[in-house]
Amino acid sequence: MSVNREIRLASRPVGEPGPDNFELVEVELPEPSEGQILVRNTWMSVDPYMRGRMNDAESYIAPFQLGVALEGGAVGEVIASRAEEIPVGATVSHFLGWREYTVLDATAAAVVDTGLARPQDYLGALGPTGLTAYLAVTEIAPVKKGDVVFVSGAAGAVGSVAGQIARKLGAAKVIGSAGGPEKVKKVAENFGFDAGLDYRAGSLPERLAELAPEGIDVYVDNVGGDHLQAAIGALKVHGKAALVGMISQDNATAPVPGPSNIYDVVTKRLTLRGVLVTDHLHRFPEYIAQAAAWLADGGLRTEETVVEGLDQAPAAFLGVLRGANTGKMLVRLSRG
Ligand code: NAP
Repeated sequence: MSVNREIRLASRPVGEPGPDNFELVEVELPEPSEGQILVRNTWMSVDPYMRGRMNDAESYIAPFQLGVALEGGAVGEVIASRAEEIPVGATVSHFLGWREYTVLDATAAAVVDTGLARPQDYLGALGPTGLTAYLAVTEIAPVKKGDVVFVSGAAGAVGSVAGQIARKLGAAKVIGSAGGPEKVKKVAENFGFDAGLDYRAGSLPERLAELAPEGIDVYVDNVGGDHLQAAIGALKVHGKAALVGMISQDNATAPVPGPSNIYDVVTKRLTLRGVLVTDHLHRFPEYIAQAAAWLADGGLRTEETVVEGLDQAPAAFLGVLRGANTGKMLVRLSRG
């Protein structure tokens, strides 16, 4: 096994990215050195934050480099090892996705327990999106018994988990927004929200006011823009929002103006707090133990949209930005 395939950044997008921004390349795969492992990647994650990494801009995470393989979460099977702590046959998670095989330092990989959950769960409900959801509703904007909670992007990886955990924390009502009637139906029927709101149909603030006539106590923002504005309007005095992501602005080519009702934050004494999951990676063991138990007993329901093969990874990524997924968008690289 010496030939590998990887996806590289071919050009930087202006606005919405397209297939031409990516190229599939065959490369020689090095042998693992002392302390390294060779992994056959079986699953990789595509995530909205990767859009920001396509820009040559300073941010909380380094930009992707032109002509270099992209990076992102992946799981795979160790097929050669020169590291005592990770044997051949182990399943590991790491951040060198976007390629079929990878050689990496054992210290950059984490062995995952496939007895506890499926390998792909470690990229979704038991991975960064799941932990982000958990942090949002337990720590960043903690949900209390009796709260009315609004989650945007509710049919997606973070949103679907955040809504279900909010319910476990005793929320009286959990409302989720998503694009289109099918997704809205799933938000209620598959993910157990009390109500789904189709943000593409009618006025978002009016629909939110119908579903939460007394207002909302907690908002989990995955979308920004019109959703954040509607939520600020609907939040009760001393309400809280966890600002997780602003996908509606990811392709913007100029700075996007803030919510026109931002002064409500003052008058209602609101707390709007951002979160980056990368600050909280030490919480993974605790979170995985808890969420794996929920998965096992059916108390946390998940879905995946699966795209097959590395050559389709760019399409999967472009799809997640346009709403082609329900639950976690994943690429299956090998059937293991
Ligand atoms: P996701 O929700 O599974 O997928 C993205 C979804 O966003 C799409 O399926 C689409 O669903 C929706 N969307 C796209 N454009 C939209 C628009 N203009 N208005 C409203 N909705 C739109 O993705 P995810 O991985 O769970 O991530 C959700 C958000 O959390 C993203 O903003 C991401 O960057 C952020 N995030 C942040 C952290 C952190 O550490 N802060 C960690 C993970 C993720 P519809 O079909 O419903 O429109």
